[in-house]
Amino acid sequence: MALGRTGVGIVTDTQNKPALSAGRAGVEGAGPVRGDDPFFAGLSDELADKGFVVAAMDDLITWARTGSMMWMTFGLACCAVEMMHAGNPRYDLERFGMAPRGSPRQSDVMIVAGTLTNKMAPALRKVYDQMPEPRYVVSMGSCANGGGYYHYSYAVVRGCDRVVPVDIYVPGCPPTAEALVYGLLQLQKKIRREGTIER
Ligand code: SF4
Repeated sequence: MALGRTGVGIVTDTQNKPALSAGRAGVEGAGPVRGDDPFFAGLSDELADKGFVVAAMDDLITWARTGSMMWMTFGLACCAVEMMHAGNPRYDLERFGMAPRGSPRQSDVMIVAGTLTNKMAPALRKVYDQMPEPRYVVSMGSCANGGGYYHYSYAVVRGCDRVVPVDIYVPGCPPTAEALVYGLLQLQKKIRREGTIER
């Protein structure tokens, strides 16, 4: 018996496909389509007639997760102004269910916005460690991506990915607020594509 992507270990069909893996049908970026799994499609149609909706638990969790991504603000320099801009009414990240949090313990995504110095790096890592799993990191701007203008400075970390694992890099100096919004939408897409309740 093969293990499913969730690690549940349920396989129902003869092609060794994880049970209900086809349920990630309408999810952008997901591989299998609903029609691939006749058992699931038949069951879903039968229950739909009775007023029920059938969905894979992975889908529901992913839907909830991507629709409530609270971001931990980690504004370090000029990029933080664009980050604030993205959260304000013109771009309004809250329409995607993304609200800023001042505490790592209730945050899902850390946005590293600005120049990370050697002196600040331990604090960045400490905040990251305090975030609950699953946690994601968006590196915003040239400085956070690779040191930027200060790449050759003795005081600057050449990329925050030396300290924390980065999921999405947003290029630019500074990236526009639109670029950050796009990066966060790409992160949503990445989470959907993974389609698993594990990180
Ligand atoms: S990438 Fe540019 S705008 Fe962003 S923190 Fe560095 S110098 Fe400032």
